[in-house]
Amino acid sequence: MARIALALILSLVIAVRPAAAQSVLRDAETEAFFREISEPLVRAAGLQPDNVEIVLIGDSAINAFTAGGQTVYINSGLIEEASTANEVQGVIAHELGHVEGGHAMRGADGAAEAQGISIGSLLLGALAAVAGAGDAAAGIMMAGQRAALGKYLAYTRVQESVADASGARYLSAAGISGRGSIDFFKKLQSYEFRLGIPQDDDQAFVSSHPLSGDRIQYLRDTYSKDPAWDAPLNPKWESDFKRVKAKLMGYIARPEDTMRDYPESNQSIPAHYARAYAWHKSAYPQKAAAEAEKLIASDPDDPYFKELYGQILLESGKPDQALEPLREAVAGSDNNPLIAALFGHALVATEDRANLPEAERVLKSAVVRDNRNPFAWYQLGVVYEQRGDEARAALASAERDLMTGEPDLALRHSDRAMSGLADYSPDWLRAQDIRLIAEAQLEDDEKRRR
Ligand SMILES: [Zn+2]
Repeated sequence: MARIALALILSLVIAVRPAAAQSVLRDAETEAFFREISEPLVRAAGLQPDNVEIVLIGDSAINAFTAGGQTVYINSGLIEEASTANEVQGVIAHELGHVEGGHAMRGADGAAEAQGISIGSLLLGALAAVAGAGDAAAGIMMAGQRAALGKYLAYTRVQESVADASGARYLSAAGISGRGSIDFFKKLQSYEFRLGIPQDDDQAFVSSHPLSGDRIQYLRDTYSKDPAWDAPLNPKWESDFKRVKAKLMGYIARPEDTMRDYPESNQSIPAHYARAYAWHKSAYPQKAAAEAEKLIASDPDDPYFKELYGQILLESGKPDQALEPLREAVAGSDNNPLIAALFGHALVATEDRANLPEAERVLKSAVVRDNRNPFAWYQLGVVYEQRGDEARAALASAERDLMTGEPDLALRHSDRAMSGLADYSPDWLRAQDIRLIAEAQLEDDEKRRR
């Protein structure tokens, strides 16, 4: 039971995976936080905030990296190590420097093969926004081998210098102090001193981003001349960071560690958050719900508090009671698609046919607004199945297969969908599109194998 709760809470998906594949952690509040703190930096880099994604990876190695495109991957281990939002911004600014510079990482061959990853599948992974052969039935989405790149590959020292200089420029243009960046690099440096030559997982950031002795000195010189050096920390970003970090720690850490770091004497919002997860993971749903109720009492308008409350109720087998808080969370978050998918799941879980029309509406709006949520497609498929609409259930499965990187299944499901849909209707055309995409992926796969 605890395992099931663990797999579902935070609207996140996590799973046991073969070596090298990593899970994407998704949470509405965390994603909103990343968007907010990165937006001024993204603009300073001359990029469009809508095109840049910050993706959280469940990996304890302290690392952040890019793997082509405009996605910045941040490991959960980095958030654990960071003390302020300002430190995270220093890292994001640096990574955006790699994005703007179009830097490709080197050194794939030896390291990647040692881990049993073929370059062929690494490239194949790049076909989907987020790829990996996840557990499609549960709608689990993996960052796949593409994200595992960060562990084994490194930028060149020249690319590092360029990214440092670009990052400093973005921070300056955004009026954000570089102090956090220096603090974070100093932490990494102390790891380096303690552990010697970079080789450990904890050294991931340093091994992906070679740290020369004068790098910190260069950054300090650059930052300290900037008027933004003495800019005060943004209080909202910093308090949001504490919440997001507490949530993540509650989700990831062992419950006893969470209870030590956030003892019951601590009645702050982050502490309630962290303990709600710790209790939930230890299968104490009432204690978990009590922490969520305290959060709601502190701010009845906060949609994320209601989301957490609804999720705890849903996952402790009370979908009926989860509906109201989740409905309010969806409304209060401007129809956030992750929360909407959770609400849709709760509606389906009531096993009350009267809830199916609302579930369909809610889940459809979620999949339209979020193109990396196979779980929402899975739930939508269940709605169609319960209605006896097998063609649309197959179409939903095909969408999900495409997202979880399983073109062979996508092909089979789109065929089944097309045979049950009216020729040239919008859904039929979509099924045909999926068929073509899946075929192209299978062909590429075949070519690489040869
Ligand atoms: Zn770098």
